[in-house]
Amino acid sequence: MTYETVRQIDPAVASALTSERERQNETLAMIASENHVSQAVMEAQSSELTNNYAEGYPGGRYYGGCEYADDVEQLAIERAKELWGAEHVNVQPHSGSQANMAVLMSVLDPGDTILSLDLMHGGHLSHGHPANAAGKLYDVVQYEVDSETGRLDYAGLDELARDVEPDLVISGFSAYPREVDWEAIQESADSVGAYHLADIAHITGLVAAGEHPSPVGIADFVTGSTHKTIRSGRGGLIMCREEYADDVDAAVFPGIQGGPLMHNVAGKAVGFGEALDPEFDAYAAQVVKNAEALAETFELRGLSLVSGGTDTHLVLADLRPSHPETAGKDVEAALEEAGIVLNANTVPGESRSAFNPSGIRVGTPALTTRGFEEAEMRQVGNLIADVVDAPNDDDVIEGVSAQVDELTDAYPLYD
Ligand SMILES: *Cc1c(COP(=O)(O)O)cnc(C)c1O
Repeated sequence: MTYETVRQIDPAVASALTSERERQNETLAMIASENHVSQAVMEAQSSELTNNYAEGYPGGRYYGGCEYADDVEQLAIERAKELWGAEHVNVQPHSGSQANMAVLMSVLDPGDTILSLDLMHGGHLSHGHPANAAGKLYDVVQYEVDSETGRLDYAGLDELARDVEPDLVISGFSAYPREVDWEAIQESADSVGAYHLADIAHITGLVAAGEHPSPVGIADFVTGSTHKTIRSGRGGLIMCREEYADDVDAAVFPGIQGGPLMHNVAGKAVGFGEALDPEFDAYAAQVVKNAEALAETFELRGLSLVSGGTDTHLVLADLRPSHPETAGKDVEAALEEAGIVLNANTVPGESRSAFNPSGIRVGTPALTTRGFEEAEMRQVGNLIADVVDAPNDDDVIEGVSAQVDELTDAYPLYD
């Protein structure tokens, strides 16, 4: 997009938008939750549907003029059903956090108890962090990953569930590199009569493509982000069995939202359509292969990986064993200077702080969209390791930056 009209009306915003496009074109996006959507998804997201008020659901709106909004939302719903095999889908949540809040609202009363993974261990704010609405409305007890293995401790979770007797258990994580056993968590929830919400925000695309086992049909509720590995319009979605459909829909609207962002729903419909193409399955498989190649490279370079590797789209490196003096934030800043964008992240048994943690989280969805395969990932892995070894060395950063330029030139992104 050239933003010609914006430039005429508003040069300041146009300049920022153009700079952002250049930034994305010229840097390597390795934030595990990010991706690059297609031109088609961006066009749909900037459509006239941004003007509509479409409170309600297809066929039952509170306003007129929703004929085409209905078409778009129905397409998004049908495609989502096909992608994930869900009985009921709500595509209106403005974000993954809203999707989670709506599920909690649909079955819990304030003061009920949630059992969820600690944020420091890879959980998410919306799973009941004290600063989040869920943390203020509900009693929250948190489980942790095994500090030795970095993996979910299913037996420990089961014991805790029996002890706490929660009303709802949340699974699904932001910084967990391994496959999740949804059935094991479902059994723990069942044993105490709790609901189970599986939040597949990060791995929606991997689940749709069969690269990660699906919780749909196992958990009572499945929520997701629509802009992460699934690479569609920005927002969230909720999937559930038909028996919960009315309560979930009412919790989204009028429970916590007003008019849906129909232009984003159009972006979701287009992105879901793209994901139904067999090419998307190849993409998702490559995302995982690329993460494996990255993990192997890190290990060869002496970095310690939480859980010892990955089954997904992300790698979590704990810098403490190999680089005890190096903070994640310093590595994040040095890498950004070199054109590689990722985030510092807490690791199990964190000894620094949430704001300046000891690890880095590195994801492959965006670079795989760009066309990177294992060879490029190994090159990028070595570049990251070079900077981790010498975050204050300007010559190293300059050298890495030159190689980033070559890679981004070889794999162009947006016109
Ligand atoms: C990203 C994420 C979400 C949703 O985030 P939004 O920014 O609100 O879309 C929810 N849960 C988990 C586990 C996540 O990683």
